[in-house]
Amino acid sequence: MPPAAPVGQVDPVMDTYARFPISLTRGRGAWVWDDRGRRYLDCVAGIAVCTLGHSDARMRRALNRQLGKLQHVSNLYRIPEQEELAGAITARSCFDRVFFCNSGAEANEAAIKLARKHGQTVRGIQGTEARPPLILTAQASFHGRTLAAVTATGQPKYHRGFEPMVSGFRYFPYNDTAAFEALLASSEAEGPQVAAVLLEPLQGEGGVHPGDRAFFQRVRELCDARGILLVFDEVQIGVGRSGRLWGYETLGVEPDAFTLAKGLGGGIPIGALAVKRAVDHFRPGDHASTFGGNPFACRAGLTVLAEIERRQLLGHVQRTGQLLQQTLGDLVKRHPQQLAGVRGWGLLQGLVLRPEAPPAPAVVKAALEEGLLVVPAGADVVRFVPPLTIQPRQVRQAVERLEKALIGLG
Ligand SMILES: *Cc1c(COP(=O)(O)O)cnc(C)c1O
Repeated sequence: MPPAAPVGQVDPVMDTYARFPISLTRGRGAWVWDDRGRRYLDCVAGIAVCTLGHSDARMRRALNRQLGKLQHVSNLYRIPEQEELAGAITARSCFDRVFFCNSGAEANEAAIKLARKHGQTVRGIQGTEARPPLILTAQASFHGRTLAAVTATGQPKYHRGFEPMVSGFRYFPYNDTAAFEALLASSEAEGPQVAAVLLEPLQGEGGVHPGDRAFFQRVRELCDARGILLVFDEVQIGVGRSGRLWGYETLGVEPDAFTLAKGLGGGIPIGALAVKRAVDHFRPGDHASTFGGNPFACRAGLTVLAEIERRQLLGHVQRTGQLLQQTLGDLVKRHPQQLAGVRGWGLLQGLVLRPEAPPAPAVVKAALEEGLLVVPAGADVVRFVPPLTIQPRQVRQAVERLEKALIGLG
């Protein structure tokens, strides 16, 4: 690791992260090594990004080949890799068309702009400062850090210091049908005002809360009845992590549009907004991204989707996800004083700590010292989001290491 900046000199990297004092320099599958040669079992995977693990042979070959051909051209021209990836997503989902960008926040920005245009063109909502078109989102949600995406994020701690937020967002408690119905009714008391509802099928960062089927079905019905756009943020749960390719399949509810990022590029930055034809409101000039959908990033996305199929990773995620949930469940039984339970889908699992236990960041730090990388989700949940290729033996090792960390904390 480079030495800390000498006294009086300024660290050239801005202080936006509270970082652990290790630097990871090499990875293979679900393992990573730091610059002192220490090995860690990686149940963070870049926060649900490294779908095929680290330094995957097929990813390396596909990306090396693409580097030898072409990395980037402007969206002024047709991009075959982008057309192919859009086709691969639409062929495997309920959507018809895709816009590409570079991150989850950027994908949600595109969805928010689409929602406003939907409100105007379909629902006749004339956006004014006094009566803006509304987008309803859930408390404890996470949609990213750009100004509109962070406004959509229903967590006041991410808003503090950045007010005023973007106008037109209202929040309701996740999975609470009555509260949603009440907010919808009050928002539309004087006529159409709601352009869209934006929801994660499973809340990841906000504490690993799986969506409730009945709640989502009711939201779908109410949106259909009024012509409101229903958008799912699948930036974390999408691309196989749930054990199905998309999170909406577990709920049995199709949104009108969804956003992807994290796992889609397996470590190469890419984001996407996919829509059904009926809500494809963007026309040339409406939206753009310089890097969005370049040949290199799209090659990464194509390789991830192809490998999920070739290696039959969905079945593998269902099995290893169930093993992870069961093994963590057994851990909860052995440590009932500290642990309250486990919840999640597939390989996105959250271990819930009791108020008497050390806070999640302390558990995460102790786990790191035992050679296990995990990440908090809120104050009381330890989140596991390993590569989708993690092996059953490594799942057991991860839980053993977490148990050592817990025992060490007393
Ligand atoms: C991580 C995340 C985002 C933000 O993605 P970035 O690539 O960091 O902008 C948005 N939504 C969800 C559900 C996420 O988990």
